[in-house]
Amino acid sequence: TLAFFNGEFLPTDSLVIPIDERGHQFGDGVYEVIKIYDGTPFLMREHLVRLENSAKAIRLEMPYSIERFEELIQEGLTRAQLRDAQVYVQITRGIATRLHSFPDVPPSTSMTFRPSKSLTEETFNTGIKVALLEDERWYNCYIKSLNLLPNILAKQAAADRGCFEAVLVRDGYITEGSSTNTYAVKDGVVYTHPANKRILNGITRAAVLQVAQESGIEVREEAFTSEFLLAADEAFLTSTTAEVLAITHVDDTVIGTGTPGPVVRQLHAKFRKLIG
Ligand code: PMP
Repeated sequence: TLAFFNGEFLPTDSLVIPIDERGHQFGDGVYEVIKIYDGTPFLMREHLVRLENSAKAIRLEMPYSIERFEELIQEGLTRAQLRDAQVYVQITRGIATRLHSFPDVPPSTSMTFRPSKSLTEETFNTGIKVALLEDERWYNCYIKSLNLLPNILAKQAAADRGCFEAVLVRDGYITEGSSTNTYAVKDGVVYTHPANKRILNGITRAAVLQVAQESGIEVREEAFTSEFLLAADEAFLTSTTAEVLAITHVDDTVIGTGTPGPVVRQLHAKFRKLIG
């Protein structure tokens, strides 16, 4: 598969990252994952604007303009001859002798172009199980930072319990999943944590909330407790790779009927229409 590092397209397994790369040593960078459906990048501009905002939040200069990133991504897709793909984009504070304070060097850019890892239709039709775990992350979760250790530990703890995702709880309230946003549906109203510093403001989240509003489904961007989630009529998660996915079980608790409910099915169907 194809990769890109600092201006060059090369095979993914090329040894190109020096030891003194700050992404490698410190996780000192930010990233995005963009999905390509049938040759067309979905919400690419929104992802690149979020990349720019994440970079700004960590005082990192964007190595290319958004327009140049769009061109490079299109070039990578053409070179890799991929129509259904996932593009990973990472920028870091560059290559410099290890020292915590900022070096005076240009930022690094890495990308990978891979066939997309889509979930099966069966997964969408049956829904998935999640595990509740403590949210042990920092207070700047709105930044799509490379530092994913708490997310990785939570995801693995969930996987060890046979669950697809870890849903995180901070001070009794659901924030989001380890790599997804989380929603509860009660009496026809969709609840989700407000887009503040405690969550990543998902690109899929924004698209799905808009679809809900256009469909006359009421949305409340309010934090809800884990008890509220367990007693919900429906629950679901969203992300670039998981789209809109029903949560049918939270640990040992069955949510609603234990199958994807009418609201999540409607939202996923309408989201799929946006894709084209
Ligand atoms: N929250 C976290 C912590 C994530 O890592 C992701 C995946 N990028 C999301 C939410 C979902 O965001 P998006 O819809 O932009 O993929």
